[in-house]
Amino acid sequence: MRAISPVGLLLDVDGPVASTETRTVPEAMLAALLRLAERRVPIGFNTGRSAEFLLRQLIEPLRAAGLPDAAPFYGVCEKAAVWFPFSDVPRGSVPTLTVDAIASASDAPSWLRVDESMAITAEVREAIWTLNRERAGDPEDGGLQFIDRTKLAMVSLEKTVGADQGAFLAVRDDVVEGVRALLAERGLADRITVDPTVISVDVEDRRSGKDLGVLRCRALMAEAGVEQPARWFTAGDSRTDYAMADRLHEDGARVDHVDVRPSDGVPATAYPVLTAADLAAHGHGRPDDVHERVGLSLLEYAETLLDATA
Ligand SMILES: [Mg+2]
Repeated sequence: MRAISPVGLLLDVDGPVASTETRTVPEAMLAALLRLAERRVPIGFNTGRSAEFLLRQLIEPLRAAGLPDAAPFYGVCEKAAVWFPFSDVPRGSVPTLTVDAIASASDAPSWLRVDESMAITAEVREAIWTLNRERAGDPEDGGLQFIDRTKLAMVSLEKTVGADQGAFLAVRDDVVEGVRALLAERGLADRITVDPTVISVDVEDRRSGKDLGVLRCRALMAEAGVEQPARWFTAGDSRTDYAMADRLHEDGARVDHVDVRPSDGVPATAYPVLTAADLAAHGHGRPDDVHERVGLSLLEYAETLLDATA
């Protein structure tokens, strides 16, 4: 067993780590993650996005910058249906992870864990794609909503960049209704849920979520013999991200949640919630920062806590 880290992090990706505008991870964020990796701080990246997204936007740039092979970093993707330790990702170029290459969970490369009981079958996926093409139009030709082929377990439909929001929302709701009917016809309505957002539609197993992501991450740590940290920080830009801190708190862990975009209001919680203003009071960032700028302030704050316990 390795020594207990004073701090561990569980981070939503879009928002606190990757820019919601460019979808990329800023250089300063990569550098801070690298410093924490060198100090063996366990970090779980808990996202609704695909393993392909994490691989290209985070893991490849981190490795190019010198991420140690033994870094205790973990990817939890597709709302916890897909997960893996970074150290298991093969060195060198990794082929694109799409449903075209990985048609079912049993075809996934051995380093990538896919919960087959949560995966949507190829038949249902095809039916949803066909319905989307009929109702949202051909994505190649002005369609309002395209399919994300990198999702291996869930089915995600996304707003075409530049599409009119009003037109998109009408089409989105029409597709959602169709998908719900399609699931009901197959007797899947109890197992699979449809989650519309302002830019997408996610079709996923009901167990999906950030709380399950916490369990996946902690299980990977236990498997690798990495001790649970003395104190967790979770971070996100959505209400659903609080589920990470809820889970840890219920499990008896010490946790603070960092809300990087608290404009929806901060709910009452049984654990402390920090915002940009609190991190600025500790000397990191500005009180009016949002998203990845607050994520960076959190990483810098975590470094000072390591220094204090060193
Ligand atoms: Mg987010």
